[in-house]
Amino acid sequence: MNRYEVGSARAEEFIHDGEIHATLEYAERHCNDTALINEILQKGAEGQGLSHREAAVLLLCDSSFEERIFALAKHIKQRIYGNRIVMFAPLYLSNHCINGCTYCPYHATNRTIPRRKLTQEEIHREVIALQDMGHKRLALEMGEHPTLNNIDYLVESINTIYSIRHRNGAIRRVNVNIAATTVEEYRLLHEANIGTYILFEETYDRATYERLHPSGPKSDWAYHTEAMDRAMQGGIDDVGIGALFGLSDYRYDFVGMLMHAEHLEATFGVGPHTISVPRIRPADDIDLAAFPNAVTDERFRRIVAVLRIAVPYTGMIVSTRESQRSREEVLEVGVSQLSGASRTSVGGYSENDQATEQFDISDTRTLDEVVAWLLELGYVPSFCTACYREGRTGDRFMSLAKSGAIANCCGPNALMTLAEYLEDYASDKTRELGRRIIASELLNIPAERVRRIVEERIARIEGGERDFRL
Ligand code: SAM
Ligand code: SF4
Repeated sequence: MNRYEVGSARAEEFIHDGEIHATLEYAERHCNDTALINEILQKGAEGQGLSHREAAVLLLCDSSFEERIFALAKHIKQRIYGNRIVMFAPLYLSNHCINGCTYCPYHATNRTIPRRKLTQEEIHREVIALQDMGHKRLALEMGEHPTLNNIDYLVESINTIYSIRHRNGAIRRVNVNIAATTVEEYRLLHEANIGTYILFEETYDRATYERLHPSGPKSDWAYHTEAMDRAMQGGIDDVGIGALFGLSDYRYDFVGMLMHAEHLEATFGVGPHTISVPRIRPADDIDLAAFPNAVTDERFRRIVAVLRIAVPYTGMIVSTRESQRSREEVLEVGVSQLSGASRTSVGGYSENDQATEQFDISDTRTLDEVVAWLLELGYVPSFCTACYREGRTGDRFMSLAKSGAIANCCGPNALMTLAEYLEDYASDKTRELGRRIIASELLNIPAERVRRIVEERIARIEGGERDFRL
């Protein structure tokens, strides 16, 4: 019999089914327990996070507490992240895949989707198209295929991407989202200078996971669930977790995700750098009717808000799977990173062919439109990649973040990278909006000395210099 053990190396012990069920029962039992909920909200307000049990109570408590949960989430977000929203785009390298994931059109038995893998020349064209929009940060995506999509191909592609300079463009941080692999391969990714290694658990519920992954290496739930441990052993200290909401009971996945974060913190002294909250989307050869666990917009907002309170220093990512309206709602209560102008097809940026698309996008706006919209809402779109380039990763990042010191660099870096974007890529309207926000945000930099430095560097950016960072 397995027992719950947060620091265990075995998936079935740190994602313990019995503990998740006991947590959900506890949360249901206390859904109207005002004294307990007040206590949890008070603890959350201290900004040190919540346990998975406490978070589950906030997730499932009566809707009469909801306004207080949202208000606290907003407050924490403002205190830690200010108005900054980090921007990125996915880049699909290959859709060859030997797995059988029943929700993804790239599954091996889909005979209708064309298969494609980018050559280094094609990657060149894609990256130039991304640079010409203004992107500085990418998330690489590919299916699992031992020969076609091997680690040598991936490392070569990463080197290609970092080497491309078009006009003032540069990709300064490459995150990687590939299937679970070995410590040796994670070490190679670390040596290739990746930013975050991202892997979604899809669902933490083992029985559902095994049903939805009937074939291929990904069908091994324990190997998949222990992937982040191997990534950390391979030297990668920024990892990004997530669950694909809609596959299973969202309550189970919510608790599982927090237990995963607690496990990484207990084992390696640092939790996940980011959490992604994707919701399942329509796609080729996928019948959404087969997935009856869809999460409503209302529930989705609660999930994001409680995560913000439970893991205040973990970045939270929302992709273009979400509509403009849904993104606006979750930005307010916790999301800190957004993709913009994404294509989910292989070759989608430089060619308009969407035949290899992974799923339908809800937010189809251009990057300039997304940036202008964020500025109008009072946010500061940030193209900053400084932390990882300055070695501020893993526990070094977390301890700086927790001490508040990170605010002295993040805010100024966001303004300087936004200034670069405005000079090089923005429409007149966006440039005007951006300059206004920069002027008002400069006044919010507490240290006079830092403010002067940022003002002087922004003037130099307007004069043609690039890539300043604190
Ligand atoms: N192949 C790698 C893997 O499976 O981990 C990484 C790349 S895969 C392209 C990225 C993610 O897309 C998957 O982890 C899955 O959660 C998500 N995905 C697959 N099908 C989807 C769908 N129909 N709607 C929304 N997201 C989907
Ligand atoms: Fe392949 Fe990933 Fe799609 Fe599964 S989710 S079929 S592993 S690309």
